[in-house]
Amino acid sequence: MVYDLMIVGGGTAGLTAALYALRGGLSVLLLEGSAPGGQIISTPSVDNYPALPGLSGVDYAQKLLAQVHALGLTMRYEQVLELSATGDIKTVRTKKAEYQARSIIWAAGVKPRLIGCPGEQRLTGRGVSYCATCDGALYRGRTVAVIGGGSAALTEALFLAGICHEVHLIHRRAEFRGEAILADKVRAAGNIILHMQTVVAEIIGDKRVEKLRLRTGTAERDLAVDGVFAAVGREPENAPLAVCIELDEQGYVPAGEDCRTTQPGLFVAGDCRRKPLRQLVTAAADGAVAATAAIEYLRLQER
Ligand code: NAP
Repeated sequence: MVYDLMIVGGGTAGLTAALYALRGGLSVLLLEGSAPGGQIISTPSVDNYPALPGLSGVDYAQKLLAQVHALGLTMRYEQVLELSATGDIKTVRTKKAEYQARSIIWAAGVKPRLIGCPGEQRLTGRGVSYCATCDGALYRGRTVAVIGGGSAALTEALFLAGICHEVHLIHRRAEFRGEAILADKVRAAGNIILHMQTVVAEIIGDKRVEKLRLRTGTAERDLAVDGVFAAVGREPENAPLAVCIELDEQGYVPAGEDCRTTQPGLFVAGDCRRKPLRQLVTAAADGAVAATAAIEYLRLQER
């Protein structure tokens, strides 16, 4: 079968694209490499999406998923390995199969960036985590560290402060990059200890994380912790695209607000696109714009 549209990625951008495309009458296949819902499922409370204050990320994703399934979405849990987007019929290959469509929306999102210090990879899953909502409950009443200074690190620290005995927030600069309202809440929390202008030189532990070696200037010291939550940003999941379009120096797709790439019939939506603001609301907006552009592209092809 040749679908009208294939969507790669089942996060907010991909699911919103599916919503608009299905309502626009297209046949749609959505491919998702892991769990549906995308990054938002690791957010305890979505407080900056218009009109939905306090909704949890998991609830948000489930509602969106139910909304598109009710429209008859075909969804497969398969990781896209290769993509050929030249020509009128585009092909995507996964481990299990090859799929074809007349247009593609790439909405594969981003993955957590590594801190890049010794011990991190060896102890991942053994005390090193990239998602407080997923793993935080394992550290109830214990001492953890959060690394980073963006909104994600501040959100993770606040969430963990409600569960853990103590949260050490370690950031390499003197100021936070994240939202001021979150930084104020972090400073006001009684059990979040700030370590500014400090980096993690090493994560130490035999079978599990035991301590961090911290470096402030030239001074080093050890900090005993039970777990480490890295929140040092994200990187795009665009590798399969590199064969058919040029990515920017950070690996993002250099498409504008219209979500069109240099390849006719190939659109990009969400955090994997080069953009000034990566938020739930901009991911949803991209999904709507990309699906509408795909519908228009297919109509012009039929003429
Ligand atoms: P981010 O804003 O890029 O912040 C990453 C942080 O990690 C920065 O403080 C950065 O330091 C630090 N960092 C990067 N590499 C590091 C390394 N190797 N070692 C130590 N620190 C390192 O990323 P984010 O916090 O994941 O946020 C990503 C996007 O999602 C943003 O647009 C953000 O607004 C959005 N977001 C929003 C919310 C919310 O609104 N509630 C929640 C989560 C995420 P520097 O400051 O020195 O660069």
